[in-house]
Amino acid sequence: MAASFILRCMNRGCEFGSDSSILVCENCGGPLEAVYDYEKLRSRYTGVPSDAGSAGVWKYAPLLPLNAATEAVTLGEGGTPLVKAGRLGASLGLRNVLVKDDSRNPTLSFKDRKSSVAISKAKEFGAKRVANMTAGNAGSSVAAYAARAGIESYIFTIAGISDSKLAKLLSYGAHVFRTTAPTKELMTFVDSVSRTYSMTNMTAASRYNPYGKEGAKTVVFEVYEQMGGRLPDWAFVPIGGGGNLAGFFKGLKELRLLGLIERYPKLVGVQGEGCAPVVEAFEKGLPPEEIPVVQDAHTIAHSILDSWTPDGDQALSAIRETGGSALGVTDDEILEAMREMSSKEGLFVEPASATSFAALKKMTAEGKVSADESVLLLATGFGSNQPEAAIQAWGNPPTIELDVKAFGQMVR
Ligand SMILES: [Zn+2]
Repeated sequence: MAASFILRCMNRGCEFGSDSSILVCENCGGPLEAVYDYEKLRSRYTGVPSDAGSAGVWKYAPLLPLNAATEAVTLGEGGTPLVKAGRLGASLGLRNVLVKDDSRNPTLSFKDRKSSVAISKAKEFGAKRVANMTAGNAGSSVAAYAARAGIESYIFTIAGISDSKLAKLLSYGAHVFRTTAPTKELMTFVDSVSRTYSMTNMTAASRYNPYGKEGAKTVVFEVYEQMGGRLPDWAFVPIGGGGNLAGFFKGLKELRLLGLIERYPKLVGVQGEGCAPVVEAFEKGLPPEEIPVVQDAHTIAHSILDSWTPDGDQALSAIRETGGSALGVTDDEILEAMREMSSKEGLFVEPASATSFAALKKMTAEGKVSADESVLLLATGFGSNQPEAAIQAWGNPPTIELDVKAFGQMVR
């Protein structure tokens, strides 16, 4: 079943029909959000509205903004495993720690949920070119789905992008450009380029494109179903630009509008300590529109190295509305969390993903999470997206001579 929806402006509530190809409110420039007929869906479905014949993200087609005649651009995204992390939990005295492993998506990050929906919409409106600003994962994902849709992609990325991310970008046939410009200037540039050269702006923030959020929210529907119609007490989500947490919260709100949950999990937004504007705003009690821009931003978690957070306002509001928290973690804490996730649970994740567990360790030590509460950690990207960090975490292995007796000193 194709969804029935409208686009509503988050600033002033201006409304537009589902056939409108605008990406931002044409009255006031505000971000748009897809709104569905929840009452109708509630009467038609007993659980999360879904299509029995589909899997992954597109299983939830009744809650996705595609018009009936459009075929989704898909690589089999979503449907990722929810892994019970018994050994990680036990190390903190917690009984119920779960990792939603979204690193296992087609281009190795959760961004595929967003790209599949946003590129499908771009195709629906006849786009020939798309543009994206990225630290690497979002751009790789956009480039892959654009390739599949026969759309050209122009990807603008940070100068220090890892070789493995760059290799993906180039391989998917993107036109790639590197720059040292800060996040805010670069996003503004990409927006201007998009308008000037008829490109659809795929930058993963709802003030540029409302459709990524629709894909991002599906992770919540999956967790709800994988937990047997429940949600955890806590959910830890890394924050870069804030779009992932904003999408997560939209999924929660929709479950509530559908009458499937009564209360929200407490959302914890996690950033690298050297790039933590949302954390700073949370700690200082600043209003969402006053989240600072970070000077000299740095963190080993490159995928969340956003000195400006275009969706930070929505992320901060979600954290406050759910009674959650925001905290920063250091590079050392991130590297330690990576080591534990991979060696205790077999979960090889990139630094940005490990921030969730690093933050849980801190909050548990402070007595904020109790033993019988359930905790969800969102793992957003696979370890091979930033392999240098894993080598840094473990150190290089020794080179040996083939001497059986001498090898005895290596066996512990
Ligand atoms: Zn408006």
